[in-house]
Amino acid sequence: MTSAHRVLVLNSGSSSLKYQLLDMRDGSRPAAGLVERIGERVSRLVHTAPDGERRERTAPMASHEAALKAVAAELAADGLGLDSPELAAIGHRVVHGGLRFTEPTVITDEVLAEIERLVPVAPLHNPANITGIRTARALRPDLPQVAVFDTAFHTTMPEYAARYAIDTETADAHRIRRYGFHGTSHAYVSREAARLLGRDPSEVNVIVLHLGNGASASAVAGGACVDTSMGLTPLEGLVMGTRSGDVDPAVTFHLRRVAGMSVDEVDELLNKRSGLVGLCGDNDMREIRRRIEEGDERAKLAFDIYVHRLKKYIGAYIAVLGRVDAVVFTAGVGENAAAVREAAVEGLEPLGLSVDAELNAVRSGEPRLISPAGARVAVAVVPTDEELEIARQTYSLVNN
Ligand code: ADP
Repeated sequence: MTSAHRVLVLNSGSSSLKYQLLDMRDGSRPAAGLVERIGERVSRLVHTAPDGERRERTAPMASHEAALKAVAAELAADGLGLDSPELAAIGHRVVHGGLRFTEPTVITDEVLAEIERLVPVAPLHNPANITGIRTARALRPDLPQVAVFDTAFHTTMPEYAARYAIDTETADAHRIRRYGFHGTSHAYVSREAARLLGRDPSEVNVIVLHLGNGASASAVAGGACVDTSMGLTPLEGLVMGTRSGDVDPAVTFHLRRVAGMSVDEVDELLNKRSGLVGLCGDNDMREIRRRIEEGDERAKLAFDIYVHRLKKYIGAYIAVLGRVDAVVFTAGVGENAAAVREAAVEGLEPLGLSVDAELNAVRSGEPRLISPAGARVAVAVVPTDEELEIARQTYSLVNN
């Protein structure tokens, strides 16, 4: 193995930059952090150093370039600067890879141009990812940089699952189809679930429920995605923290024609003011559970709508897969909210699904089974780790 054994993972959002430095020899994470409010008057950087010390800085950071330079300075202060010979590569999370990028890809000028051509289908996400890539390339032009796409894992979906039933020419002209997102998480979690079952991923059929602030479900057959709940954009599917998930598309015409809203206003309504927050004013499941305990009816209805949608997708994916070996919960809600897991499988005993109350109540950061011993379908919690997956994919690509 070469002496370069570290990978820096960058996840650039519209006004944020998350980073983790991973050591691929021992799996440790010497440094990690987050810059928030990039472009606002005061940005905030929180950095965790190798000794666990947390350093916080507030300063104006007008751009991702300024933010990444500040991150580079923090890393350098720990002896882990971007110029370190131990840095093997930078792995970038890129939200939309369209149909072209089915695998992690070393970034060249041509690749970057192609990611830019995808901006019309990912206007909220790809521009920030592109800025992150440009900035990192300017700082270390000689270092291999790899794009890991959120959509890539879903490119195995069969055409009948990926295509919307709308006019083919119009759909093709505008690249309108179901792409799916959170793919890095679905890939990692479905593989780890197989490992938990002691089986090879190629042998098992798994339903993955990634329930974070954004939420998506996927049906994975023998390691390949065959269906997923997000579509052209991350708006389709499950009820999320602030997104509606599935609605009748005619709701949007109605909001335009009858409510007089602009396209941008409808976009904002469905992406930012819907889902749990739109239903009850809170998008944090902890807060919703607390309100339910106090007898709050709106919080209870929001929870019930959330769980009802989840159940419908579980049922749909059982039908898509035919045989299901495991239903796996992951991300902030999936890993922590026992009440959501219990409610999601309640009444599904005839389909072989149930949770053991005691196992479900266990709090742990480890992958674990929560179904009763001998259950026909395993129900599991598998903490997701998108950074590790991005680092692994990046490292294996540059080490080949
Ligand atoms: P994202 O990466 O999409 O921003 P996460 O996967 O970190 O989101 O999930 C964040 C969400 O997880 C929070 O909004 C909250 O609803 C939920 N969450 C986090 N911790 C808990 C907990 N202990 N109990 C219930 N829900 C939790």
